[in-house]
Amino acid sequence: MLVEVAVAAAVRGTFTYRVPTALAGEVALGQRVAVPFGRSKRATGYVVGFPTAPPAGFELRDVVQVLDAFPPFTPKLVELLRWAEGYYLCPPGELLRAALPPGLNTRGGADAPDRRRVEYAAPAPGAAEALPGLQRARAQRAVLEYLLARGRIPVDELRAALPTARAALGALVKRGLALLDSEVPVARSGLLEASGKVANPTPDQARALEAIDAAAGTFTPFLLHGVTGSGKTEVYLQAIARARAAGRGALVLVPEIALTPQLAGRFRARFGDEVALLHSGLSDAERHAEWLRLRRGQARICVGVRSAVFAPVEDLAVIVVDEEHEGSFKQEDGPPYHARDLAVVRGRLEDAVVVLGSATPSLETLENARRGRYRLLELPIRVDDRPLPEVEVVDLSGGRRAGRAPSAGMLSPPLAGALATTLQAGQQSILFLNRRGYQSLVLCESCGAEARCPDCAVAQTHHARRGLLLCHYCGRSDPMNGLCPACGGLRFGVGVGTEQVEEAVRALLPTARVARLDRDTVSSADDTAEVLARFARRELDVLVGTQMVTKGHDFPGVTLVGVVLADTALALPDFRAAERTFQLLAQVAGRAGRGADRGRVLIQTFNPRSPAITHAVGHDYAGFAAGELARRQALGYPPYTRLLAVRVEGSEAGARRTAEALAHAARPALGPGVSLIGPAPAAIERIRGRSRWHLLLRGPDHRSLLAAHRAMARVAARPPGGAAVRFDVDPHAML
Ligand code: ADP
Ligand code: ZN
Repeated sequence: MLVEVAVAAAVRGTFTYRVPTALAGEVALGQRVAVPFGRSKRATGYVVGFPTAPPAGFELRDVVQVLDAFPPFTPKLVELLRWAEGYYLCPPGELLRAALPPGLNTRGGADAPDRRRVEYAAPAPGAAEALPGLQRARAQRAVLEYLLARGRIPVDELRAALPTARAALGALVKRGLALLDSEVPVARSGLLEASGKVANPTPDQARALEAIDAAAGTFTPFLLHGVTGSGKTEVYLQAIARARAAGRGALVLVPEIALTPQLAGRFRARFGDEVALLHSGLSDAERHAEWLRLRRGQARICVGVRSAVFAPVEDLAVIVVDEEHEGSFKQEDGPPYHARDLAVVRGRLEDAVVVLGSATPSLETLENARRGRYRLLELPIRVDDRPLPEVEVVDLSGGRRAGRAPSAGMLSPPLAGALATTLQAGQQSILFLNRRGYQSLVLCESCGAEARCPDCAVAQTHHARRGLLLCHYCGRSDPMNGLCPACGGLRFGVGVGTEQVEEAVRALLPTARVARLDRDTVSSADDTAEVLARFARRELDVLVGTQMVTKGHDFPGVTLVGVVLADTALALPDFRAAERTFQLLAQVAGRAGRGADRGRVLIQTFNPRSPAITHAVGHDYAGFAAGELARRQALGYPPYTRLLAVRVEGSEAGARRTAEALAHAARPALGPGVSLIGPAPAAIERIRGRSRWHLLLRGPDHRSLLAAHRAMARVAARPPGGAAVRFDVDPHAML
């Protein structure tokens, strides 16, 4: 018997091994196995196929051991991983590793005990009769006697009572005289209490649910386009309730659970412990435990982030991708997969319904809906017909003349006035600025020298409270010195960050209860949930923060949202800059006026006429999308073309040499309509002392790029300049 094995290492392709007769009964598709690999006697691998004939010219080696009692991957997941391997042309082992909860490759195995799981031992039925037969196996006899006296007990208790219990218990289990089982604790981190009340669907919701219901059992992708607060989550919940009523499973992908503890809370409130959570706010042990509950069928609904697209949900009927436009579904290191795209592929393999939900769908998804590949469901109004907030622009470009010059902390007179009025009315405000720290640039007034990171080609940010200059790329920190290290001149800072905004709000409104939410103030999912919970309980009046404050919270007390500076994302050299800005503005504006009182949104900007801003003011997604799609088509960007970004990192000379060799290999392999842009130094030329070069390949479709991709992959395996090469299929990050 032969098996095809993907080794958990950064090697391309798979390998064939022989299965010794003794192991033949245990080997299954998706099974984890130990195999000899290269010079190593034992490497971890996964069974991904059963070839009928051995490859010619190789001496076959044997599988050493089968590592789990059941395979960590279901056959459908193996299919999904193989599809991703072909699409992203990345080593299958890397994908497999990304697909498993952390530690599963290194720790015991899919069914190995860990600290957080309580294991129980119990005597098997009829074990008492076997006791006399254990005269000579004294340790086993002692353990069995103990178990017969105590019944089902935690293994830890047994170990404490009998030092030799461990080995003896294993032997008893093998003989069928003792039973082992375990209870996996249910993860609770990062959740916010939510109501489990089922709403009576609105007519729009009912129409959407009917369409989803009618498609049950067949692969059907839907785009659920609904404005913020239109009841998309309620549609997900009710569609999943119907799948559960039919005994089937569901998978819900969300961008970041730590930022939306209410959402996860709503699923738990509705479905209880049938919901398993998979996100980075959990400890490794908790994640492993939640994964196990799914794999064993104890939990049938998975709510998780990006990597949960590989969650072992059984009999999957519904896949939901909430906020499908969010960039965090794209994996930025390791295998470059996009969880939303893989969710659609998984839906096809599992004959499941796929619901992609958003208030501001990505242009890729919108185009798929326009071409009829996805069916469009719309929720155009908020629940209970609550009005969308009124959005106004504060034009900072005409600043001084109009008397709108921002004071310290960028609070213009209109914004400062609105904050004061909101506080007086006993209502809440959110202030959003996509930049943390106090000042984003520190300059010397005599020689003009900037505080820059010596290891990266970027400026350091001044964090005043900690008295530090921080590099946001490599994390390097230096003490902030008021005098220029080069000439001794006085230094000053420009560019406002959230820390300065918070300070300005406190100065403006001394009686307000103010908190800041960014990566400097919270370090864990629980911290984040705690700040959000305090805000939800109305123990805070103003919440200042980075995009952490823009996500799907539902705070009825918020009537004012201020965008401190809308231009931070617009200026980035990225073809998605306008789309991202529009999405962010629409998202954060959607936080206002979710309760009984109408909301108000103030957007401060130096570019009041940019389409991303004018359309956000009018809540006009369709208008923005039409203009932006026309621009993409004219300039030849996705969704009308496909891109492959090749990122090279190494020494100054080495990165250049490798990049040039890659281009040299790609040029003869460029098919019709395919163009190569670069090689050129990346927008950020250096990070952590490593030089960065980029190549960008553009073609009419995915297939058109494969030949050049393969040609470059051969160079990347032995790069002449010794630089590291990463191929990013359908790239999102352009810096
Ligand atoms: P979205 O996900 O589109 O932002 P939600 O599903 O969170 O919208 O709904 C917004 C609010 O309206 C929530 O508080 C939710 O409980 C409530 N809601 C949703 N659907 C209904 C309904 N049919 N009837 C009453 N309230 C609803
Ligand atoms: Zn740095």
